[in-house]
Amino acid sequence: MKYIDDFRDASVAKSLANAIARSVKPDREYKIMEFCGGHTHAIFRYGVQYLMPDQLTFVHGPGCPVCVLPTGRIDNAIRLALDNNIIFCTYADMLRVPGSGRNSLLKAKAEGADVRMVYSTQDALKIARENVNTQVVFFAIGFETTTPATAVALLQAKKESLKNFSVFCNHVLTPSAIKAILDSPQETDSVHIDGFLGPSHVSTVIGSEPYEAVVSEYKKPVVIAGFEPLDVMQSTLMLIEQINSGRYAVENEYTRAVTRKGNIKAQALVSEVLEVRSEFEWRGLGMLPRSALKIKSGFSEFDAEKRFDVPRIVASDVKGCECPSVLRGSKQPTECKLFGKVCVPENPMGSCMVSSEGACAAYYSYGRMGKSESKIGVNQ
Ligand code: SF4
Repeated sequence: MKYIDDFRDASVAKSLANAIARSVKPDREYKIMEFCGGHTHAIFRYGVQYLMPDQLTFVHGPGCPVCVLPTGRIDNAIRLALDNNIIFCTYADMLRVPGSGRNSLLKAKAEGADVRMVYSTQDALKIARENVNTQVVFFAIGFETTTPATAVALLQAKKESLKNFSVFCNHVLTPSAIKAILDSPQETDSVHIDGFLGPSHVSTVIGSEPYEAVVSEYKKPVVIAGFEPLDVMQSTLMLIEQINSGRYAVENEYTRAVTRKGNIKAQALVSEVLEVRSEFEWRGLGMLPRSALKIKSGFSEFDAEKRFDVPRIVASDVKGCECPSVLRGSKQPTECKLFGKVCVPENPMGSCMVSSEGACAAYYSYGRMGKSESKIGVNQ
């Protein structure tokens, strides 16, 4: 396949839907977790869930970088922006994520904090170069996909001896989260997961190899899947075939971008400046060991947690918000009483409704369509 439309071809989708329907055993359920928010949106945007047989359910995972940051770290960011007379640079999604008391970086900006939306770490560096008398902090979030860009910014800041640039580092690690889900009590009862659609972009960086240990320890298959609807369907079929035959292996459907070893150059850049934290709090998953990155001591002058007072804040989510359960896959967004009523994308109560990768946003934007309105328009 050469063009993007080829990965959305309705006739191929129909063949795959029929192959999946033929493959599932009538007397068992298949629960497939799509780890990544990008897959959740592909599934909903193209109506893939409506093409699946009744025995198969997609369970949405924690792979939305905005969603998994706990309220306490949002509170930290708001306090950093308000209390230190700095320029605080953030990706747009983080502006509206509610902290404690439904505070947000957007509200902090309205109160006078100099909060600026950036598209990249390079934008933040440019702001630092243009404002040498003001401290500039970059709010670094995300999985392994966005980490190399943060590493490059830190290396550049050091090379240029920038005295007014630092990073509030919140980068998290995918294999640790998969492990945490499989270790959680829910996995043994209501959210038994049969296999994972592995993330696309993360895997272009880390490769398929890091999933091998998890797969062999927990005996659950992982198929790394691309983001197009046919990628998701082909990967789902590959998972069903593994599950039916009792196999558990890492397979790679997204071979056009992912290799076993990943992007070695990007990994080396990250290792040069960042190291694994002993533990880190995740929304919905709690405190997880060795699940996030921090800035190495050789770069501590660029570490906002060292330059400013950033205490650990234990904070709760908005009352009634089910984001933690949604992120663990134990509840669907529509099971939250606030969904679509008080919580909508224009007025989000939780992180899962803010982000373009959040499960609640996906349900709200696409999931309310009926089966007949499925965008691919294929009948089983
Ligand atoms: Fe949280 Fe809103 Fe999702 Fe409910 S619908 S879980 S309040 S983000």
